[in-house]
Amino acid sequence: MSGKSYDILIGGGGLLGSATAFFLREEGFKGSIAVVERDPTYTRASSTLSVSAIRQQFSTPENIELSRFGLEFFLGLPKRFGPEADLGFQKSGYMIMASQEGRTQLEANHKVQTGMGAKIVLLEPDEIKQRFPAINTDGIAAACYGLEGEGWLDGALLLGTLKRAARAAGVDYIHGEVENISRINNSIESVTLADGDIISCGMLIDAAGPHAGKLAAMADIHLEVEPRKRTVFVIDCRADVDIPLIADPSRVWMRPEGRMFIAGYSPPEEDDPSVEDLDVVHSQFEEFVWPALAHRIPAFEAIKAVHAWAGHYDYHCLDQNAVIGPHNEVANFWFATGFSGHGLQHSVGTGRGIAERIVHGDYKTIDLSKFTYDRIPENRPLFEHNII
Ligand SMILES: Cc1cc2nc3c(=O)[nH]c(=O)nc-3n(C[C@H](O)[C@H](O)[C@H](O)COP(=O)(O)OP(=O)(O)OC[C@H]3O[C@@H](n4cnc5c(N)ncnc54)[C@H](O)[C@@H]3O)c2cc1C
Repeated sequence: MSGKSYDILIGGGGLLGSATAFFLREEGFKGSIAVVERDPTYTRASSTLSVSAIRQQFSTPENIELSRFGLEFFLGLPKRFGPEADLGFQKSGYMIMASQEGRTQLEANHKVQTGMGAKIVLLEPDEIKQRFPAINTDGIAAACYGLEGEGWLDGALLLGTLKRAARAAGVDYIHGEVENISRINNSIESVTLADGDIISCGMLIDAAGPHAGKLAAMADIHLEVEPRKRTVFVIDCRADVDIPLIADPSRVWMRPEGRMFIAGYSPPEEDDPSVEDLDVVHSQFEEFVWPALAHRIPAFEAIKAVHAWAGHYDYHCLDQNAVIGPHNEVANFWFATGFSGHGLQHSVGTGRGIAERIVHGDYKTIDLSKFTYDRIPENRPLFEHNII
């Protein structure tokens, strides 16, 4: 038993845990902070297995604001931390396509996005073809295409940069696995690590990503955030093909990556169980990915999958939206999780929001109160309709 004690303990040191620790110091939190991370190599973390893209195209206005702040922060890193913190942002719009069936939702999303000032155009099939002649528009009724503020970057470098900066600001990173949480009535008292160490805390923040539901359960708190596997295929194509990041109505997405392409498939809810393993689902390539790629981009007929990896989405079963802020009864148990596939781009906005609320008593820049845990016991889902 170590007898250590911290004002704030963060469970999970991926992007959400590290961004929260970093912004607590940025906002002037003077107390002690520790991040408990079971795997400092991040071999299985979402943050390092992500495809690290950023978009303005969401249906929840606050998600658009979070992306916007994320991009501004990411682009400003070299100025702050030097050229080694350049995340290599590749500017490229998302092309989110809809069949006739999905057109109404696409138009509704577009209205929200442009209402928030996002530069997104709604394209008819002939306009898609004009911009990207490689795309076959069969079965497409319309698409939204981002003209600015979208692209992808180096997520592992982002994590390393935030973690280094948090440490330099006096945040402790503890290598250990939280195995138990001591809750007395409506207060979290301490956590017990797998090696038997007990760490007491004034507040515990759940940033355990896909395992956030499990961490909450240790405190008898209900949270349906669970790991949902996503396989990413790396594709070699000899032809020179100019495409943006495409989200196809077939649930397949694709994008350029250096001289290669990457692509993946998001199964419908009923075929998407929670799984712990990270085995690549090779069958998805033949069954879903290749047919969709060959149909949408005829030049992809002769492609080869040369590599693949799998990661877990931190999937929030209620509404595919994040849970941010304190529990409704256990006031010193907080959440920074449940992003369902868009947590990388929202990590820093969330970290800043949580820090504002802890240090200043309320959200100051982006009002994140819609993401409250309260909506779970009250069964008030806040559906995000643009999940890829
Ligand atoms: C294939 C794929 C593609 C994605 N693409 C995008 C994208 O394009 N854009 C985007 O914004 N997002 C994307 N995401 C989602 C994004 O990566 C995640 O939302 C985000 O990284 C979640 O960060 P996190 O810190 O919550 O989780 P993680 O990075 O998983 O970190 C949680 C940490 O908690 C630790 N942990 C868990 N349980 C315990 C415990 N009991 N004790 C101690 N430590 C514990 C884990 O070891 C882990 O390191 C993608 C994810 C995947 C898998």
